[in-house]
Amino acid sequence: MTLAPTATGVTARFELDQPTNAVTFVADPTLVRPAWKLVTPGLSFADGRISGEIAFDRFELALTPDPSEIDRTYLSVIRMDQGFAVYGPALSLSEGATSLEFEVPEGFVALAPTDPTQGYSYLGPATAVTLVGGANFVAGANVPPWLGERIRASLTATLPFYTAQLGTPPLTPLVLVSVDSPGPTAFRGDVSGGGVVSLRFHGEKWAKADPEAGRSVDRFVAHEGFHLWNGQGYRPLDGETAPWLHEGAAEYASMLAYLAVSGGEDNEAAMRLKLGSHLRKCLKATKGRSLPVAGEAIQKGGAVYDCGVVLQWVADLEERSRSGKQRSVLSLWRDVFAATKNGYGVADFQAAAKNPAWNELLSTNATVDPWKELLATLTALGVELVNRPEPGDYRGALLHHLLSQHCEPGQATGFFTEHDHVRLDTGARCGPLSGDPELVAVEGYPFLSDARGGFEAAQRVCASNGQLSLQKRDGSPSLWVPCTKVLVIPKVWSVNDAPRLALPVSSTPR
Ligand SMILES: [Zn+2]
Repeated sequence: MTLAPTATGVTARFELDQPTNAVTFVADPTLVRPAWKLVTPGLSFADGRISGEIAFDRFELALTPDPSEIDRTYLSVIRMDQGFAVYGPALSLSEGATSLEFEVPEGFVALAPTDPTQGYSYLGPATAVTLVGGANFVAGANVPPWLGERIRASLTATLPFYTAQLGTPPLTPLVLVSVDSPGPTAFRGDVSGGGVVSLRFHGEKWAKADPEAGRSVDRFVAHEGFHLWNGQGYRPLDGETAPWLHEGAAEYASMLAYLAVSGGEDNEAAMRLKLGSHLRKCLKATKGRSLPVAGEAIQKGGAVYDCGVVLQWVADLEERSRSGKQRSVLSLWRDVFAATKNGYGVADFQAAAKNPAWNELLSTNATVDPWKELLATLTALGVELVNRPEPGDYRGALLHHLLSQHCEPGQATGFFTEHDHVRLDTGARCGPLSGDPELVAVEGYPFLSDARGGFEAAQRVCASNGQLSLQKRDGSPSLWVPCTKVLVIPKVWSVNDAPRLALPVSSTPR
């Protein structure tokens, strides 16, 4: 197969070893081919299959850039200013091996991983290519200078940090920067086969330098940089069932790399806040269950990172404490990579970490409360956790407490928070709370301006099996709603203090 860039995309010309009536592109949930057109007359292209009435031995496709980013998939074609990045695996046919060649006009280059069918290849102007810290770095002329500089500086600082901690990267990186991402996300990135790091930016926000965007770039580069080792160089075997392991590791490592490079007490404090936020969100996503019992709830979206980071954090604190600060979670990863050349799984990491809190978190027994153990471990390792619910947490806890007592089990219910009232979503399913009432106060305490006062008043009523009065927005008589179960203060943990995360600059990993 030969790839050749055009003004609008890339032409892919396939030549087959022998005539056939149909060929099929490899099917894989991480592959999408949304903007491909069959050029060859007399054939048809549907559902990843090219077919014809009469046998054919060649065909041509016109590939244009994908119209949208899709969660956890690789774009098949990315615009990079005047050039394009093409994802090799999307072009592989199910019938035998596909080999890839490139045909570029004068002034253009093709840069590809050793096996171009494994990752992204770049086809575009040679002027976009430079060498940065041992990596081939590609950024088109439309990448704002500050952004290109920031990414370069980030790579130059981060890759040596990881190399010192983890050993030489198993792959020579090829870094592709595009500001032509179709969105909707402001930035997305991935590392694909052969060590290709793709960083894609979308929208006006990247046009001019600002400190916040700069910090996002540093963290983003540090996250994707770690995947050169963990993800591509060494493959996760449980990537589908436990994406929190390699994603959590990359996100947590990016925090360590960021602190090693940028340092400072402000950054330490910012990372503590971030850890607290990951902990809260993970507890919410798992609803206090172990990871296998929580199942799908932590296999997608933000929970992958939230829970993943928390697990890496406790493993890190444990390892530092055990080794008298001689080792860290990165030492554990170095051991895992050395021990598992053909890929690693959750069990391999735990074999290295031997972390008791992890045993509970990985338990398939639904009756244990693994988070109690985890919080106790964090506390024992020097983390000061304080329960600090916000008004919204009190409001939510009270309303859900009432809904759970009066709604038919298994029915979806909830509430909407408006600027001066809450509106329950109850239909005819919730006894005295039915009819989607609009409520302004509980026991005289406004839901919006004194959620905590209302919560505490309700606690007293519920403790004595009383009836709560809920004041309605339209001034009609209050709803009287029985409450017979103890109302417990919601657990919303904040990290008040924690051991320093930054690794000592002089640390030589063991
Ligand atoms: Zn990642």
